[in-house]
Amino acid sequence: MRILLTGAAGFLGSHLCDRLLADDHEVVGLDNFLTGSPENLSHLDSHPGFTFIRHDVTTPFPTTGKVEAVLHFASPASPSKNHPLGYPNLPIETLMAGAHGTHHCLELCQQQGARFLMASTSEVYGDPDVHPQEETYWGRVNPVGPRSMYDEAKRFAEAMTMAYHQKHGVDTHIARIFNTYGPRMQVDDGRVVPNFLSQALRNAALTVYGNGAQTRSFCYVDDLIDGLVRLLMADSHEPVNIGSPNEITIREFAELVNQLTGNQAGIVSMPDDQLGDDPQRRRPDIRRARRLLGWEPQISLEDGLARTIPYFRGKLGL
Ligand code: NAD
Ligand code: UDP
Repeated sequence: MRILLTGAAGFLGSHLCDRLLADDHEVVGLDNFLTGSPENLSHLDSHPGFTFIRHDVTTPFPTTGKVEAVLHFASPASPSKNHPLGYPNLPIETLMAGAHGTHHCLELCQQQGARFLMASTSEVYGDPDVHPQEETYWGRVNPVGPRSMYDEAKRFAEAMTMAYHQKHGVDTHIARIFNTYGPRMQVDDGRVVPNFLSQALRNAALTVYGNGAQTRSFCYVDDLIDGLVRLLMADSHEPVNIGSPNEITIREFAELVNQLTGNQAGIVSMPDDQLGDDPQRRRPDIRRARRLLGWEPQISLEDGLARTIPYFRGKLGL
């Protein structure tokens, strides 16, 4: 297939480029480098199957030629209030990437008869009162809260995706992605994996927000990409959770990072998550992914971190 991928220069986007090209697809990457980096794609400069267009997806798309699939990954993704590129500091950009960006992708799909996959998120469940989260759960989201620009952008994008499927018969797919980590994350984007790995490799104490009892379930990037590719090819239009079902508290995660890196500096407790409305428990119910896609993660957290640490060492010049 010839595939258009928005957010190609980001963490997930660049790994998707690699996987789709390895599967012999042709990829047209679109990005405006808002939170991504040309460096993530530099190894593809002379790849015959890859073309890149610098473009802001919130504005009408340039001529792309015929495409058979569109994957929409362009959006700020870090909840950090302390980093200029966290979505709390890019509220309008985030809402527009979810709203206008998704609309432009779907218009293209309708015109060209292309299939569509959107990168949704576990954040559509908000701070959930159902655990683990299954796709039938509607979520607990504050529409005017500190995370609303991201959560509501993705919820709107899901609604728009379903509308194009129902009204125009577009072959749509919604991936609800849970916390994913691996090489090519920005080392300073404020998310917990980059923060903890950078701190540990510099022999600094890891900053645990709140009491550290909040949980996440971390998926290694290669596993996630495999799930996404399977979903793109699947015959289902319902949202599908893609993530790891192995839940861990943030305090346990900090201890594991210190153990794997040999960091002796320990952990420092910070007053709260600094943004507010921090989801307290997050773990995907992946029965739908198992059933529809025959997919579940294969790489343990220890193995995934061992594959990620050398990248962070390199980036930090250590
Ligand atoms: P990222 O910041 O590394 O990548 C996002 C990319 O989108 C960047 O290259 C950025 O420059 C680009 N972008 C942003 N706004 C744009 C615009 N208006 N026009 C063109 N390009 C634009 O983040 P990521 O972690 O790779 O996330 C990719 C997608 O996956 C996002 O949609 C995010 O919401 C979703 N997601 C990621 C995770 C995760 O754990 N990484 C979890 C859930 C959902
Ligand atoms: N967190 C933390 N220390 C940090 C960064 C994050 O304790 O230095 C916590 C944060 O409060 C949240 C979890 O780690 O409970 C995951 O945060 P992240 O920013 O990676 O993404 P989220 O899952 O909240 O979207």
